[in-house]
Amino acid sequence: VGRNPGEREFHQAVREVFDSLGPVLTKHPEYADAAVIKRLCEPERQIIFRVPWVDDAGKVQINRGFRVEFNSALGPFKGGMRFHPSVYLGIIKFLGFEQIFKNSLTGLPIGGGKGGSDFDPKGRSDGEIMRFCQSLMTELYRHIGEYTDVPAGDIGVGGREIGYLFGQYKRITNRYESGVLTGKGLAWGGSQVRTEATGYGAVFFTDEMLKTRGQSFEGKKVSVSGSGNVAIYAIEKIHELGGTVIACSDSSGYIVDEKGIDLEVLKQVKEVDRGRVGDYATKRGNGCSVVEKGNIWDVAVDVALPCATQNELHADDAAKLISGGVLAVAEGANMPCTPDATKAFTEAGVLFAPGKAANAGGVATSALEMQQNASRDSWSFDYTQERLAEIMRGIHDSCVETAEVYGMPDNYIAGANIAGFIKVADAMLALGVI
Ligand code: NDP
Repeated sequence: VGRNPGEREFHQAVREVFDSLGPVLTKHPEYADAAVIKRLCEPERQIIFRVPWVDDAGKVQINRGFRVEFNSALGPFKGGMRFHPSVYLGIIKFLGFEQIFKNSLTGLPIGGGKGGSDFDPKGRSDGEIMRFCQSLMTELYRHIGEYTDVPAGDIGVGGREIGYLFGQYKRITNRYESGVLTGKGLAWGGSQVRTEATGYGAVFFTDEMLKTRGQSFEGKKVSVSGSGNVAIYAIEKIHELGGTVIACSDSSGYIVDEKGIDLEVLKQVKEVDRGRVGDYATKRGNGCSVVEKGNIWDVAVDVALPCATQNELHADDAAKLISGGVLAVAEGANMPCTPDATKAFTEAGVLFAPGKAANAGGVATSALEMQQNASRDSWSFDYTQERLAEIMRGIHDSCVETAEVYGMPDNYIAGANIAGFIKVADAMLALGVI
């Protein structure tokens, strides 16, 4: 803590992983001897830079850009870029740290990194977004590459932003290096299913958890917080599997639609009009209510998927969900549940999937995009989705088996942390003190 003052979220993420590792270090003293834990906490490289750009009124704006290249023992640094006013070093480091273990869990050859900016895209014109992305890439390009560091999207960074970032990278370097960014459009090197991957993957993982109790999504009432990329495609897959998502949210509040969220309307409002959840309620009319500034966890459901942002679900929210009979909770977002909330779910016997396992489908499909780019190929939707489903089943089974081996059956948190850690730690031992 003294070494990284004020980085609250980073401390939280580190504590969450290391709380699980006691039994591993007892069994494997070689990790401690080689200072693996200490080395894991120190990013290989951290870049902080100025991003100057000119807004539509002709005024010069300055934002701060970040890229934290955390660990490349398993492959090139890999992780998204987040554009949100709350971004500072502590957020990027928490996300980059989580990414190391998540990427390890996918079984694919990718290291961990993350980046972003405190730029707020809300209310900005298309031209402003483009100029901002171009300015950010004018510095970032020198640090990234297919074999070095491969950024992607996250909060505030979707297909439009990846397009502007890729365009500027291509222009500066004079290289059509498709593998330098993932989340690209299908016409220019993107992969089928990448847009859907994180949401779909979280639902595949939850489905596997439900199966361990002889359950499925069929007939279940579900809430999904957020209404961005992860949330929308989680809702889509839940409906395909027979569940009904009755509530979703954004930072303005939440909506309840007992008939089930109409995805066509939600996609129009969020992906095309870039509107608020209240606009969904207006379009949908009767039977749909909006609770401005409300808390989505007030709604009793069978399954809850927090898919918005970190620390959005607190201990009192967990208590409400538990007393409402929640059966499973899966983190579509990164670290959305506070440590107290997580503890409450675990103690109540609720099936609980931590983000680094449940939302790994996004980065896994990014790695599949890199495979397609490297072989100048593009796969069909069905084939790519099957690869994703298979990877999520693999992550699920590896969490279950590892938790059992270490004497913590049913504990997906311990299973994910330990399985993710061991692979990276072994690679770090093999590569020497670097
Ligand atoms: P989007 O920007 O597409 O959507 C984010 C959603 O969460 C929006 O509805 C947004 O509402 C809401 N939200 C964001 N910040 C806050 C906040 N502080 N308070 C309340 N609501 C908030 O992002 P994604 O869907 O891509 O990402 C969501 C989460 O999933 C993040 O934790 C991200 O790190 C994680 N994730 C994403 C992956 C991906 O592939 N995209 C991969 C793995 C994890 P509003 O518009 O009002 O701000």
